Amino acid sequence: MNLSHEKLENLASAILEAAGSGPAEARTVASHLLQANLCGHDSHGVGMLPTYVANIAKGLLKPNRLPETVSDQGNFILFDGHRGYGQVAAKLAMELAIDRCKDKGMALMGLRNAHHIGRIGAYGEQSLAAGLISLHFVSVVDHVPMVTPFGGKQGRYGTNPLCIAVPSLNEADHLLLDMATSRIAVGKARVALNKGHQVSDCDLIDAEGQPTGDPSVLFSEPQGALLPFGEHKGYGLGLLCEVLAAALTGGGTIQPGNVRGGGIVNHMLTILINPELYGEQNAIRQEIAALIDYIRATPPAQTESPVLIPGDPERQRRKSRLSAGIFIEENTWDEIIGTAVSLGLNPEEFNLSEEDA
Ligand code: NAD
Repeated sequence: MNLSHEKLENLASAILEAAGSGPAEARTVASHLLQANLCGHDSHGVGMLPTYVANIAKGLLKPNRLPETVSDQGNFILFDGHRGYGQVAAKLAMELAIDRCKDKGMALMGLRNAHHIGRIGAYGEQSLAAGLISLHFVSVVDHVPMVTPFGGKQGRYGTNPLCIAVPSLNEADHLLLDMATSRIAVGKARVALNKGHQVSDCDLIDAEGQPTGDPSVLFSEPQGALLPFGEHKGYGLGLLCEVLAAALTGGGTIQPGNVRGGGIVNHMLTILINPELYGEQNAIRQEIAALIDYIRATPPAQTESPVLIPGDPERQRRKSRLSAGIFIEENTWDEIIGTAVSLGLNPEEFNLSEEDA
């Protein structure tokens, strides 16, 4: 199915409302999911809806629960998401942290115990829109660990994403590095499995520790594992995300002494910096823009693939998907429609057809 993002967002919002959310919450989460699809991260898009609805039924996700302020010391703020929708909690937490950063020049914001906060780049974009730099360290807990430490053959931690956002002179040149510290996100393995595709055999090991491109090893017993990107370096970064996001915020790391409910819980530590702290904003942005021009002008190894900056692939995909529509493969689509029907919705009322795109 190739569908327009507006109609998909309406369907997503209706599913979330039918699953118990108020209209504003449903719209915030649906919009986040659609933005993830638009920028090409289908692993964090509407395909998550069946998991969210299943987690509500198991009591692992609590609709309409706003984050609680645990500690507020001006530019040091800590929130507890209490398993509410992470997209709502993280957006609200970022709004407050951005205000504090503008006021004080820097802010440190912790958010613990939020249900899945989705695509971390969304929070980097929030900070870019405010003209600020942000660094986000995230841990993924509450379920079996999926990523093996460098040299290991069993999962010990999550895909722990890292995001760094830095504004440049123009929006098209903002730097937005947003990545799992595993070679691929779990959701990408799920999407590949649903499509009947293999991933690279550099991404996964089976339960015996042998390289494999078969994504089913992650979802069957005995379980395989994802490998960290960049060998020992990516492993170190993923481990430090766990420490900064989960231990420092008091959310609790993935070590087995902490209860695992079987859901998806994210903790996030965010550092916000106002670039004006160190000088005149325009001069800093001009220097960054000059660097980006220099990087973009690198002679490409393959003429048809110019050198990009972090954030470019998402901008390019958003542009093309806004006009061409979003492709949802059959298994994912069946799961979404099955979820809608199970909640008493009639998908036909949403006028979804290929021609929408
Ligand atoms: P990815 O590998 O597709 O991209 C990672 C980064 O590399 C992006 O910033 C992208 O702009 C950049 N990039 C890609 N190709 C490039 C090129 N040729 N030149 C320069 N830069 C390039 O992303 P991923 O690691 O698969 O992560 C996917 C999404 O999953 C992210 O949005 C992440 O936040 C999300 N995620 C969320 C969780 C969670 O628990 N909430 C966990 C893991 C991942």
